[in-house]
Amino acid sequence: MNWSVKIGTVKGIEIRVHFTFLLIIVWAAAEGILRPGGGWSRVIFGVLSTCLLFVCVVLHELGHSLVTVHLGGRVRNITLLPIGGVAQMESLPDSPIAELAIAIAGPAVNFMIAAGLTIIALPMIRAEIPTDLLVATHSTRTWYILSAFVVRLLFRLLDGVDWRALLLYLLGANISLGMFNLLPAFPMDGGRVLRGLLGLGLSHLRATQIAIHIGQALAVALGFLGVLSANWMLVLVAVFIFISAGQEGQAVEARVILENLRVEQVLNRLVPRLSPLHSLAHVLDIASRSRQVNFPVMQGEQLVGVLTQDDVLAALHQYGAEVRVGRVMRRQFPTVRPTDTLLYAQQLIARSGVKALPVVDGGTVLGLVSLQDINAAYFSATPRPAR
Ligand SMILES: [Zn+2]
Repeated sequence: MNWSVKIGTVKGIEIRVHFTFLLIIVWAAAEGILRPGGGWSRVIFGVLSTCLLFVCVVLHELGHSLVTVHLGGRVRNITLLPIGGVAQMESLPDSPIAELAIAIAGPAVNFMIAAGLTIIALPMIRAEIPTDLLVATHSTRTWYILSAFVVRLLFRLLDGVDWRALLLYLLGANISLGMFNLLPAFPMDGGRVLRGLLGLGLSHLRATQIAIHIGQALAVALGFLGVLSANWMLVLVAVFIFISAGQEGQAVEARVILENLRVEQVLNRLVPRLSPLHSLAHVLDIASRSRQVNFPVMQGEQLVGVLTQDDVLAALHQYGAEVRVGRVMRRQFPTVRPTDTLLYAQQLIARSGVKALPVVDGGTVLGLVSLQDINAAYFSATPRPAR
């Protein structure tokens, strides 16, 4: 369960709202009531401004996502969290120009919204809506009185809402969202814009390293500025940027290392083969003797299933040790070839949720490659200082 509900789909991209987002709405409403001079109009202002701000955040993420899809990438969903929107990208186009276009699309949306709001704000006149309009549309008298009452009540409530303030709030919020995200530091969009620009002339790893250094230098400068001006929020943002930049560096480093290793270099050839007729008790016996936890399941020479450590534990819990492998094994699973990169294998594992993949070469099962094997290969390829 991921605690979010789907509210719509745009071009195959699900838009979801996380339950905790409701807390922010409740908080905005509560603030409207509790504030001195608060009332219904303040509650409506709080809830409306929060919802509209998050609509802008979703549009920002949609900007990134639609460009990603347009350039051949895949986006699973956009989830609205109290801290903002998160777009889950399944695959990204792999060129500096694509990265540049995708990164810049989000802030561009905010600037476009800000431009639109400016056009509306300039000639804004507070219009009075005449309630007599209702006479023409509703002939039944009771219905008229009832709807006139509801509409009057609605306008009484909305009348107190300061629409100009709401508009200016959204205008300011979109400008600052756009500007803040263009800070040239990971994980901001500006960091990706910078890397995309650097990537036009440098390798991905080198471009990332330089972008990280620039971002971290900027974070230090922001931190100083925050301390000097006693703006502790700015200091927190600076610390956040500094730490995230480092993590981005590690992620790219891992990517480059895994891209340069092949499945055949880590493939586990000694893994015992199971038959669908084996019982789980037998599997546990094999596991304790061979120290293996993931297995291919063979019927003669044919690969018919995979049984991973997770599957064994889940099956034991549900059926006990006497159940047959054929009943609890996975029948749907991807396979890899010995010449595939570990990065590809890792992505396939992440996408399919099967933590060990059979390695197949021309119909012959050579063994398995598991997430543990990939992690071990990664750690032995990275020299790390002892802790
Ligand atoms: Zn963005």
